[in-house]
Amino acid sequence: MDSRTEQLQQNLAAVVERIQRACESAGRTEQPELIVVTKYFPAADVRRLHSLGVTQLGENKDQEAAEKAAETADLQLDWHFIGQLQSNKAKSVARYASAVHSVDRLKLVGALEKAVTRAQAEGHRSGELDCLVQVDLRTPTPEDARGGAAPGQVPAIAEAIAAADGLHLAGLMAVAPLEENPEAAFQRLVELSEQLRTEHPEATALSAGMSQDLEQAVACGATHLRIGRDVLGERPYAR
Ligand SMILES: *Cc1c(COP(=O)(O)O)cnc(C)c1O
Repeated sequence: MDSRTEQLQQNLAAVVERIQRACESAGRTEQPELIVVTKYFPAADVRRLHSLGVTQLGENKDQEAAEKAAETADLQLDWHFIGQLQSNKAKSVARYASAVHSVDRLKLVGALEKAVTRAQAEGHRSGELDCLVQVDLRTPTPEDARGGAAPGQVPAIAEAIAAADGLHLAGLMAVAPLEENPEAAFQRLVELSEQLRTEHPEATALSAGMSQDLEQAVACGATHLRIGRDVLGERPYAR
């Protein structure tokens, strides 16, 4: 095992232990899914992570994700797209992603439906695309809301996903706002999720929790954690 793999193994073990401890404190028996966010790190690290048993990877830019997915096409991996997505990138994302956590507007739902249907017809994908509605948890929702829908828009976007061919409404995603206690913000996400599930009981996914707030996310019932820095280390250059 090379030294980078050893380092990743140690970091991963520490993160898994934090998740287990957080689950115990919260009295949770079901563990959340750990998605390791490999943005800014090379495909070689994806291979190392795979050799350590990691199969769920997260990326936030289409070009970088598409390249890494192509370089690791021989491995059984699930790619979760977690970044802002322009409609014209839907076609590319539909070819490699198993989930998009960042669906934040109706136009993108239409683009993803078209892209997935085409990718299936052309033999580039078999299953449906899991879609999570990304919510902007800042209050009040700023005018310039980008990277997340206002809470009031969630029902319409969810409805459109549920009605679309090839898309599966999986649940909700959010990033905790910087200026607030993450637990308070995640609690609003939980309430939105409860409302959503009265109409769409299948939409159980709650994608919340990054390196700095995974404990709070687990306490709020997150089903998917998106962890980058605490597994891979500081990113090579600032985001
Ligand atoms: C980069 C990123 C993460 C991972 O964040 P870390 O602080 O590195 O754990 C999670 N979610 C999103 C949307 C991201 O862009």
